[in-house]
Amino acid sequence: IVHLSKLNKHYGELHVLKDIDLTVTPGEVVVIIGASGSGKSTLIRCVNGLEEFQQGELEVDGNTLLPNGKATKALQKIRTEVGMVFQQFNLFPHLSVLDNVVLAPMKVRGWDRDRAEATAQRLLARVGIGDQAGKYPSQLSGGQQQRVALARALAMEPRLMLFDEPTSALDPEMIGEVLDAMRELANEGMTMMIVTHEMGFAREVADRVIFIDKGRIAEQGRPEQIFDSPQQAPTQSFLSRVL
Ligand code: ATP
Ligand code: MG
Repeated sequence: IVHLSKLNKHYGELHVLKDIDLTVTPGEVVVIIGASGSGKSTLIRCVNGLEEFQQGELEVDGNTLLPNGKATKALQKIRTEVGMVFQQFNLFPHLSVLDNVVLAPMKVRGWDRDRAEATAQRLLARVGIGDQAGKYPSQLSGGQQQRVALARALAMEPRLMLFDEPTSALDPEMIGEVLDAMRELANEGMTMMIVTHEMGFAREVADRVIFIDKGRIAEQGRPEQIFDSPQQAPTQSFLSRVL
């Protein structure tokens, strides 16, 4: 469903992504790990077209993006088919939880309010906050807000879900509830690309772990391979610092 070939991205002089070749198959859960500044967020943001790249090719669910932001129709399709959850929840503060979730399906998909609300209620219940629909984001805990963000992304019926450190801004006691919701989603067969520092979670849910070092895929494999017997020196040194 995702195919990157020889993808290169520069910020001016800075070569942030280097010859990234990556294929993600439907239902696969890929966890991306690596040091700060290695390019994890940039990679994720390229996949849903939030960042341009300079060389290579990127295909998401049959939509191809070319270097330097050409092919805008494909970009629109990718944005509607890919859900994303960030470190910051980015909820609309002036809208209720329910309205946060129904907004995009009504605007982008053209659903009527009844259909969008029914879906939103189902999704909110699924992430364990069915009773919070009438509240405003500021009245919720961080963990609850992040689960609203997850429900909001799922409301668009995405073919692929991207996560960029979804639990990094949360108090420790709220991390578990967000990871639980993500784990459930993975078990239901959602295709997911996840940047996280939660190594225990990565080991448990990932089909594949990718280690990025200075913009390059340095090593990838099954979680037990990467965590228990990393082959490359940068992977070994990173894991010895975080595990
Ligand atoms: P972290 O773990 O801290 O989130 P990361 O692996 O997600 O790090 P990126 O955010 O992808 O790293 O950044 C990769 C490199 O690109 C860094 O050197 C960063 O300073 C640089 N960079 C990121 N965004 C921009 C930008 N908009 N303009 C210029 N340089 C940028
Ligand atoms: Mg990042």
